[in-house]
Amino acid sequence: MNLSTLEKILVHHPAYRLKQAREAVFNQLVESWDEVSSLPLDLRTKLEQECPINIKHKIFESDESNTQKAIVYLHDGEQIETVFMQHKDKRNTLCVSSQVGCAMACEFCATGHQGFTRNLSEFEILEQVILFARILKKQNQKITNIVFMGMGEPLLNYDNVLEAIRIINSKEGFNIGARHISISTSGIREGIVRLTREPLQINLALSLNASNSKLRSEIMPINRQYPIDKIFLVLAEYIKVTRRRVMIEYVMLGRVNDTEKHARELSLLLDNKLGKLFFVNLINFNPTKYFKPSAKESIEKFKKILEKYHIPVTQRFAFGHNIHGACGQLTGSVK
Ligand code: SF4
Repeated sequence: MNLSTLEKILVHHPAYRLKQAREAVFNQLVESWDEVSSLPLDLRTKLEQECPINIKHKIFESDESNTQKAIVYLHDGEQIETVFMQHKDKRNTLCVSSQVGCAMACEFCATGHQGFTRNLSEFEILEQVILFARILKKQNQKITNIVFMGMGEPLLNYDNVLEAIRIINSKEGFNIGARHISISTSGIREGIVRLTREPLQINLALSLNASNSKLRSEIMPINRQYPIDKIFLVLAEYIKVTRRRVMIEYVMLGRVNDTEKHARELSLLLDNKLGKLFFVNLINFNPTKYFKPSAKESIEKFKKILEKYHIPVTQRFAFGHNIHGACGQLTGSVK
C-alpha cells in the first residue's frame, strides 16, 4: 500500500473524489478499489494499478492471551511491527509504530538495538490501523484505542504522527475519540512543548523507567540530552495547561530498577513535581537477551511502597510473551 500517491492521481479530479476515496479506505475499509462503486470505473482501474490498497503483512498469534502481532512490509522493503490486544473489558487496543527502527537506543529495547532507519509517513502509520480495522470488521468489531508505543519515538516524527492522529480521530476517518489515543515518549522536550499547545485531547505517557537520572542515562541515553528534571518541568507545564493526566511508564527490569530502594527513590522523585494529575504504570518486561523481567514479588513490593507514599500506581501485564510482544522484539528476532 502506498497512499501517498492518492492525492497526485486525483489532483485534476473534483475535490470530492479525494474525499470519497479516503472515506472508502479509512472508513468503509474497502480492500480493493473495485469495491468503491461511487468512483467511475476508469478511475477505479487507474487507482488499482497506481495506488493499490492491499497491505503486505504477516500475523503472529499468541496463544497465551488475546494478542496478535503483525509485521507490515512497507513499499520500500522496510518492515514495522504492530500489536493488537483484546482486553476483557471489551477494549481493542492497537499499538502502532511511528518509525522504522529508533534512534533512542534504550538499552532494554530490541528496536533501540536496531538503530534508526527512517520516519514513517502518516499513511504508513495509518496502514497499521487499516490492517487491523479490516480484520476486526469481519468480526463485527472495531479498534477502540490506539497507543503509539510500537517502534520509534513518536515525538521525533511529530508532524506525521499528528496528521495520522487527526485522521484516526476524524469522523471521515476512523472516528476514534482523542481520549482513546495515547502517545508514549522517551522524553523529547520540544515535542512535549508542542503537544502542550495542541487542541487535540490525546493522552501523553512518559517512559521513565528509572528512579534517578544516573540510572536513566545508563539505560536510556536520551536522558543525557534531556535529564529527568528538565522533562518534569515541561511535563508539569503540560499538565497545568491541558489539565490532562499523564501516565508515567516504568518497565520493571530485574535487579536494575526494581528494588525497594528504587521504589522509595521514585516516590520521592515524583512527589510534588507533577501535581496530582499523573499515575505510575508498572509494566512487566518481556525477557530479552539484554535484560530479565522483575520477579512477581519484587513488583508487588515496589507497588506497595509507591502506595505507601500515596503515588497513584497501576500494573500492566505483559502481552504475548511467545510472540515477542514487547516493543521492537518481533522484527528484531525476525531479522
Ligand atoms: S523503548 Fe521506545 S524510545 Fe526507546 S529505543 Fe525502544 S522504541 Fe525507541
